[in-house]
Amino acid sequence: MIISVASGKGGTGKTTVATNLALSLGKAQFIDCDVEEPNANIFLKAKLNEHEDVTVEIPEIDKEKCDYCGKCSEFCAYNALAVVPSDVLVFPELCHSCGGCELVCPQNAINWKRKPVGKVEHGVVNGIDFFHGLLNVGEIQAIPVIKALKKKIDNKKNVILDAPPGTSCPVIETINVSDYCILVTEPTPFGLHDLKLAVEVVRHLNIPFGVIINRDGIGNNEVDFYCQNEKIPVIMKIPQSEKTARLYSKGIALVSEDHKWHEMFGLVFSRIQEEVRK
Ligand code: SF4
Ligand code: SF4
Repeated sequence: MIISVASGKGGTGKTTVATNLALSLGKAQFIDCDVEEPNANIFLKAKLNEHEDVTVEIPEIDKEKCDYCGKCSEFCAYNALAVVPSDVLVFPELCHSCGGCELVCPQNAINWKRKPVGKVEHGVVNGIDFFHGLLNVGEIQAIPVIKALKKKIDNKKNVILDAPPGTSCPVIETINVSDYCILVTEPTPFGLHDLKLAVEVVRHLNIPFGVIINRDGIGNNEVDFYCQNEKIPVIMKIPQSEKTARLYSKGIALVSEDHKWHEMFGLVFSRIQEEVRK
């Protein structure tokens, strides 16, 4: 089963939930798809001993063949090409590697070269097969790195995908293969606002989902009321406490400190199995 853990906004405790769930399972695969800021390994502490570059293809203009007709730059919706009187400028960071410019070039003047955009790293810890992706500094396209990570999914295992925060393309690319999605939120007006956006996304993708309320007790009951009205299951509440905050700040997983959490995350997994079977 593939379970993704997402949140409409950053800082809600998404990685706390994802890592504790994985550790409570014992054997699992954990893939941190928050490639701009992967931090799950702070809690899991896998020794990373495999590294793989992620590359994308970008166009390279054959100046012997090009007649500077401009058809490629007219076609490119991402403004990754600009044709000037005797040159074609390529802006690699804007290119989405769609291949369209090659199709429209009447001179067959477009070749391809590979450009590194990030990497995938792997390690194993406590029975968890761990992967994370790292987007190179200055790169803006997370999707190729997330796609490279998703190729590592082992369908024979329970897989936890830690999604990037927000509701944009990288989140959709991460969660679209999930059997179930956990939306982590906090009981505040900001949490509710972003939860509603995240709910729209998972409903649109038709993925079964439930909510975990982190830092329960800090705000109001609006998230509870919203979930009741929308018939969204609240599958766990993690109370705000000094102890959990202290463990988080030290990079210590809740389940490794207190067996009560082990059981609670085990119950969350059982509940998800039931929801998926429905
Ligand atoms: S479409 Fe081909 S020939 Fe025309 S400017 Fe672009 S690369 Fe050159
Ligand atoms: S591959 Fe697509 S995005 Fe990249 S330059 Fe060509 S048309 Fe533009």
